[in-house]
Amino acid sequence: MGHRHLRARLEEGNARFRERLQSDVQRLLIQRQLALGQSPSFVVLSCMDSRVPVEEIFSLQPGEAFVLRNAGHVLSDAIIASLEFAVVQLHVRYILVMGHSNCGAVQGAIHATTATGLSALPHLLRRIRNSLKEPLSQWDTVDDRALEYLIKYHVLQTARAIPTQSRAIDELHKKDYLKIQPAFYHIDSGTVEFYDHLPQLNGPSG
Ligand SMILES: [Zn+2]
Repeated sequence: MGHRHLRARLEEGNARFRERLQSDVQRLLIQRQLALGQSPSFVVLSCMDSRVPVEEIFSLQPGEAFVLRNAGHVLSDAIIASLEFAVVQLHVRYILVMGHSNCGAVQGAIHATTATGLSALPHLLRRIRNSLKEPLSQWDTVDDRALEYLIKYHVLQTARAIPTQSRAIDELHKKDYLKIQPAFYHIDSGTVEFYDHLPQLNGPSG
């Protein structure tokens, strides 16, 4: 599809969205209220994967959540700054860090494969690989079960790293004011699995 067709798809979708708004008086009132300001309850940090539509997965309405996404939910200055904005300025008390099945970013990091001529992507994949250093050092091959484990591991590492990169967030986290919750989205079933600790997994078949 050419650019004009792609833009047309977005414009047409937005037109349908506005049509639905006009036909739903309650929604329209909420939307007008939202125009005045926001006070969301959640931040979801997730992968950019097009099969992970965060708002839809949790039936979140506009105004309910900040959604931050990039390939492999990697922390950066911009992500940490956005989390500080949400947590400190807008008093959000719940951060969900959500990975997903068959994550291409994590797979790319494991196999260290990118097209040639790229400058930024290999750097990002290295950061994911660094977060997986420990489990990867124990395995020669990565099967499907191990991949799910590694994605969950990376999510947990990301969640644990957040307070280490912002003193303000760390303080609120220590006070238990802020919850940072790891989760894993199963694309095939639509199920979100919340977890706080990794299951034991000693090697790919263990
Ligand atoms: Zn992904």
